[in-house]
Amino acid sequence: MVQLSRHHVEINGSPLHVTLRRTPRARRVQIRIDPEPGSVTLVVPNHCASGLAWEFFDSHRGWIAKRLADQPPLVTLRAGAEIPFAGQPHIIRHAPDMRGVVDRRDGQIHVSGEAAHLGRRLEDWLKKEARKALHIAATSHASAFGKRPGRITVRDPKTRWGACTAAGNLSFSWRLILAPTEILDYVAAHEAAHLVEMNHSPAFWRLVRSRISDTDAADRWLREQGAGLHRYRNVARQAACGRQTGKA
Ligand SMILES: [Zn+2]
Repeated sequence: MVQLSRHHVEINGSPLHVTLRRTPRARRVQIRIDPEPGSVTLVVPNHCASGLAWEFFDSHRGWIAKRLADQPPLVTLRAGAEIPFAGQPHIIRHAPDMRGVVDRRDGQIHVSGEAAHLGRRLEDWLKKEARKALHIAATSHASAFGKRPGRITVRDPKTRWGACTAAGNLSFSWRLILAPTEILDYVAAHEAAHLVEMNHSPAFWRLVRSRISDTDAADRWLREQGAGLHRYRNVARQAACGRQTGKA
């Protein structure tokens, strides 16, 4: 059984979230840099004492600091910033008097309302667009496999792009709406195929490849570029949390 515990440490004066992941499958202590900025995972075999794992961590502080410094900087969702949508760059524009909430056209995303709420409105809209696109893609792949998914939800997981439960519910990262459409489509097909095969067997991959021509290219993209999708943040929301009771 995998056991997780969360810890806060400092590296060069900056806060760092460490998830300690204790697992029977690990052979040795390992440090993984998470896609989410400012967070790493310390993988610890079951038989290894926590003290030893933290010693390993401390002896690698320099390496961790360097890897974190190499991560691309965060991009706040605000007017003038550039974000990808379906893999295409878009400039965020504030359109206070526009009717409706968000309008995407010609490489621009216009957001109405007060400037202070722009980040939240845009993030809500991106999640809605992600849910829509993933619902369409997952449902059509599933129906090709003779299945119908249960609930389809979007979340913001740190390390996974999609998940399928034994009950047939699918969940996805909303950040897939930022990625090229073929990447979103691949993750949707991958999770839909888990409705038939709850494993990564050859039979599972046959299903996925019946729908997606180049699964290797999509996997490679997620490995190499996926972390970059975690750069985009609505920082204003976090700042406002103390004052607002707000809706989740
Ligand atoms: Zn899978």
